[in-house]
Amino acid sequence: MDQTKIDALRAQPVAPFDHLIDGRHVPASDGGRMDVISPIDGTVLTSVAAGTAADMDAAIASARAAFEDGRWAGQPPAARKKVLMKWADLIEANALELAVLGVRDNGTEIGMALKAEPGSAAGTIRYYAEALDKLYGEIATTPQDILGMIHREPVGVVGAIIPWNFPMMIGAWKLGPALAMGNSVVLKPSETASLSLLRMAALALEAGVPPGVLNVVTGAGSVVGQTLGLSMNVDVLAFTGSGATGRRLMEYAAASNMKRVYLELGGKSPNIVFADAPDLDEAAKVAAAGIFRNAGQVCVAGSRLLVEASIHDDFVAAVVKATEAMRVGDPLRTDTHIGAVNSEGQLNVNLGFVKTAQAEGGNVMTGGGRILAETGGYYMAPTVVTDVTRDATLAQREVFGPVLGVTAFETEADAVALANATVYGLAGAAWTANLGRAHRMVRAVRTGVMHINTYGGADGTVPLGGVGQSGNGSDKSLHAIDKYVNLKTAWIKL
Ligand code: NAD
Repeated sequence: MDQTKIDALRAQPVAPFDHLIDGRHVPASDGGRMDVISPIDGTVLTSVAAGTAADMDAAIASARAAFEDGRWAGQPPAARKKVLMKWADLIEANALELAVLGVRDNGTEIGMALKAEPGSAAGTIRYYAEALDKLYGEIATTPQDILGMIHREPVGVVGAIIPWNFPMMIGAWKLGPALAMGNSVVLKPSETASLSLLRMAALALEAGVPPGVLNVVTGAGSVVGQTLGLSMNVDVLAFTGSGATGRRLMEYAAASNMKRVYLELGGKSPNIVFADAPDLDEAAKVAAAGIFRNAGQVCVAGSRLLVEASIHDDFVAAVVKATEAMRVGDPLRTDTHIGAVNSEGQLNVNLGFVKTAQAEGGNVMTGGGRILAETGGYYMAPTVVTDVTRDATLAQREVFGPVLGVTAFETEADAVALANATVYGLAGAAWTANLGRAHRMVRAVRTGVMHINTYGGADGTVPLGGVGQSGNGSDKSLHAIDKYVNLKTAWIKL
């Protein structure tokens, strides 16, 4: 990473952004605008269109028309593949510009942003582009006088609603498979992280995605998000965000056309460290990174550290040491480990959780407060709280910030019981050199992803999805394609 190039990009003013509807950049129907506040220093970076219900309806109508006339779904798979491959190339060619724009909008440290945002988005788009002409239909095992065929058909119009922590990466998790299978998409980014997605969508048009096939409407979730959710003209909702919003989307679906709703929600993921872990120093460093990168704003963050009682004090000391070695600050400096919290509102939520944890008997071993307030930005010291009981707020509710709760356990059975004692089930980890125990933990801990002797790392070849109130369905891998197709049976009497 070249600091000089990053500094040059950050010095550039950011022009106001409009919606992308029917292949054109258009303002809100009532002219409304929303300021974009940079969490780096609390200043106004630019503005986006404050979408209206009419804007969203126009985008949905455009997506529907594009789907019905076959301008995308009707193209040969090889042609769609070529366009999507070109889009991935354009994202890569503009990676630094996209990453810096995104960081100025959402505050993720640039090292992580560059890899996880344009890097991962390009990889995801390419993965589904490469797959799309290799997915064959099926012939069923019917009697001799019947031909039973199973086709995969695009569902039609997909509504994708995206959070602020990794907009391009998560956006690509929906856009890649949805567009590869021939659907049209209306994308609704977060109020506090729209810019990089708008830019990435404009590159899709440049690559040859036809007008109307990919639309982006910015604005309040309660206005444009709700209109998308309640639309009679949307076939699938693909959502990543909080459980509260996910619940609403299910209500919208029930109240409208019973569209399919796929939810990737939050977590309270357990990171379980046994005394027989192969390398406790490594485990401590990874535990700190696994909760604190991107200021804890990672759905799979290992926010509950469960430690075998016999090593608890030494291990916590090692985690605190690793935490205090992480540099918090300007996310556009290449040597920063932890960037800004996304918004002032989220910073206050995080601080509130620390206060509650203390009131419930937790001990703050490091961090606990706002720092670097003189910059005007929203920075929080990474925080480690011990003596968190099984039912404490910090053990039960997702913070989505740089706050780690630590709980001691005595036996493997206790660890499993603690790990499963929340409504969530997104990710988890166990650190142990005992092969049998490692496999037992994979089976016993109810999550969508279980790591052994590592935390967090996974690529696009494996699914990511939650169980329980962490959601349903999966992003990533070939399995994600199922969300964006209907199976059609042809039963032919010969
Ligand atoms: P959020 O639910 O507040 O917002 C997500 C999106 O929903 C935004 O675009 C928002 O505008 C929209 N929205 C809000 N109200 C709406 C409504 N009434 N109707 C329709 N849309 C509406 O979530 P957030 O704060 O942006 O993101 C943080 C959450 O996302 C955390 O819970 C985190 O764990 C989760 N997350 C999950 C994953 C995963 O893969 N499981 C990944 C990243 C983030």
